Amino acid sequence: MSDEKPPGFATLSIHAGAQPDPATKARATPIHQTTSFALDDVEQSASVLTKGFGEIETPVVNPTQAVLEERIAALEGGTAAVAVASGHAAQMIVFHTLCPPGDEVIAATKLYGGPINQLGHSCKKFGWNLVGADTDDVATFEAAVSPRTKAIFVESIANPGGIVTDIAALAGVARRAGVPLILDNTLATPYLCRPLEHGADIVVHSLTKFIGGHGNSMGGAIVDGGTFNWSRDGRFPMLSEPRPEYHGLKLHETFGNFAFAVACRVLGLHELGPAISPFNAFLILTGMETLPLRMQRHSDNALAVAEWLSDHDEVTWVSYAGLPGDRYHNLAKRYLPRGAGAVLTFSVRGGYEAGVRLVESTDLFSHLIEIGDTRSSIVHPASTRPGRQSAATGPDVIRLSVGLEDVEDIIADLDRALARAA
Ligand code: PLP
Repeated sequence: MSDEKPPGFATLSIHAGAQPDPATKARATPIHQTTSFALDDVEQSASVLTKGFGEIETPVVNPTQAVLEERIAALEGGTAAVAVASGHAAQMIVFHTLCPPGDEVIAATKLYGGPINQLGHSCKKFGWNLVGADTDDVATFEAAVSPRTKAIFVESIANPGGIVTDIAALAGVARRAGVPLILDNTLATPYLCRPLEHGADIVVHSLTKFIGGHGNSMGGAIVDGGTFNWSRDGRFPMLSEPRPEYHGLKLHETFGNFAFAVACRVLGLHELGPAISPFNAFLILTGMETLPLRMQRHSDNALAVAEWLSDHDEVTWVSYAGLPGDRYHNLAKRYLPRGAGAVLTFSVRGGYEAGVRLVESTDLFSHLIEIGDTRSSIVHPASTRPGRQSAATGPDVIRLSVGLEDVEDIIADLDRALARAA
């Protein structure tokens, strides 16, 4: 056995999955803007399904996309990953792989609005049901488990509430229920939090945000932790039973600890179709190379902003797990030891009206809904999504995604805007 130290996070962010292009010797991963790859022979075409998971030369996966998949799997410590068109597509494919009609997913009610709408409304068309539970009370997850439960779905840091999830406690609930724990790790990224090390089974990402990091491309990813036993009790027939469309292949039996990634690719991505473009995969890969530098700076800037806001007369409260007095600070110390990320919420005196004035008064902060850009952004959820606020927000709540500008400039912009909005 080799006692060589495995590469560190920064090294993996730059190199995982990539080699010099064998034909051209190009060092950065090229954009293979190509849909079709020639087969060597008939034998290769017959074995196509069993290749393509880490083997760049496969005709199944676009090579630019394959590097992205290997890199995100390496950063999360998973066995394999599947890249898709968006974070929402990643969630959809995961639920599609796990849930026949009539099945249930237990999800935190304090999630960002996306899965609440997706699971609560759109997924009903597929016959899947959302059962809500409270991240702050693990017993509510335990109580929500039923024979139809197929997964527990939570975020590592909840957007927009600043809630930090007790991953290990929920992993215990999932284990007892015999279902996988799925973690949306979008806000933390694997630089700040590695959910698989705390007992999660599957990680999903919106790559659109901090992983790509520059506000220029949409993407999503599913990472297989490789530890869940899909064949234990027949509850996951998509993985344990013969697949008629693949000549009776049993995915778990055949692919072992990366069977979930294979299932998401062949039964989800291939059949439903939300592929990531090679160009977006290239841009996201470029962003990933600086992920550790950016996430550290995002977190450091956000902490400085949270501290400054906490002392401001016009601000009534600040929610940021990096603040020592925050109710999630102890969980942050355990799960987010390098920093609590870029997103924080606070409220201003004057409630809804002052919130509207504030977001219309910033210069450096862009007023927009997206998060995870190098550029700072601000949003007042109550006025942006009238009548559709998630449970984690109220009429006076402002959300910031703190960017990578000089922190003095970020604070000066908020100072001016708060004065204008008062
Ligand atoms: N996960 C989180 C935590 C998000 O905030 C979002 C979008 O806001 C998504 C997933 C969905 O990602 P996408 O916009 O790439 O579909």
